[in-house]
Amino acid sequence: MSNWENNVRKVVPYVPGDQPQYPDMIKLNTNENPYPPAPGVAEVLKNLNADVLRLYPKPDAHELAAAIAEECGVDFNNVFVGVGSDDVLGTAFLTFFKGDLPVLFPDVTYSFYPVWAELYNIPYETPALDGNFRIKKEDYYKPNGGIVIANPNAPTTIAEPLDFIEDIVKHNKDSVVIVDEAYVDFGGETALELTRKYENLLVVRTFSKSRNLAGMRIGFAIGSEKLISYMMAVRNSYNSYTMTTPSILCGEASIKDKAYFRKTVDKITATREKAVPELQKLGFTCLDSSANFLFATHKTVPAKEIFTKLREKHIFVRYFDKPRINNYLRITIGTDNEMQQLYAALSEILK
Ligand SMILES: *Cc1c(COP(=O)(O)O)cnc(C)c1O
Repeated sequence: MSNWENNVRKVVPYVPGDQPQYPDMIKLNTNENPYPPAPGVAEVLKNLNADVLRLYPKPDAHELAAAIAEECGVDFNNVFVGVGSDDVLGTAFLTFFKGDLPVLFPDVTYSFYPVWAELYNIPYETPALDGNFRIKKEDYYKPNGGIVIANPNAPTTIAEPLDFIEDIVKHNKDSVVIVDEAYVDFGGETALELTRKYENLLVVRTFSKSRNLAGMRIGFAIGSEKLISYMMAVRNSYNSYTMTTPSILCGEASIKDKAYFRKTVDKITATREKAVPELQKLGFTCLDSSANFLFATHKTVPAKEIFTKLREKHIFVRYFDKPRINNYLRITIGTDNEMQQLYAALSEILK
């Protein structure tokens, strides 16, 4: 008999959306951006001299962190950069949530939060969203070991205003409050300015959605110098070189092209505004979206059935077989052309 398995850390991992590989597919299932990254990113890759890869990257991801600091109007010491915001959030959970009280986040939110809590043995509670999928801020006015709010929330798409976030932060001076702003560029109000006022507030962002760079894996956090230095110490206790040289340079090029960023974000929000009435005509109701995706339910046909039939046509959307949301589809906003094909497929499926 061997017992080595007794000493294995056993976890139930987060399951990301599928990455199917059909040449004819329409991929609206993982909230990627349908447009290419800023042209400067292709330039960086084309001109990259492979010899630079001989050397370790700068451990502070210098060019990238400096560009982010400038863009966000903060100091270099207020920026933490990671391998996608998943890395940033995971590091934040590990750094800030070691108390005995439960960390709080909504029952319906980004499903990676409970996975990190389990991985790091962090106690947590999940206050229920109300019947309209809104966060009840009073649920967060009690002793806790930390708070995580996605704003706009996912997969509900709903954004709360800045004063709502500030109320939660004000009531929680004794714990770290993380606001995950993965989708804020598509219509939310950022809590960035509050990081100057509240030493315990961490705002987390990603390049995967509004910056068209999911494949490069870049995320960042903005917070007080103290918060950031605690995260740096934890990160430097397991891996000092998280950001590759290409990711540092491509991220910098993306940040510097403000006009391209604005243009693609505006295109996506315009397509989203047109999508809502189109889906209504087909019998769907959508929650009020401030993100690059819609959360939609059909008046008669079960979401799971629509999901399966779309998949047969190589149109991929996301379906969560989970309490409260198992009759909803999460539909990423694609190009106008992709959306037209989605409406055509739906009208065939639903007729
Ligand atoms: C997509 C997403 C992330 C993670 O994105 P990365 O690709 O790891 O940067 C984090 N939070 C939410 C709510 C997301 O939807």
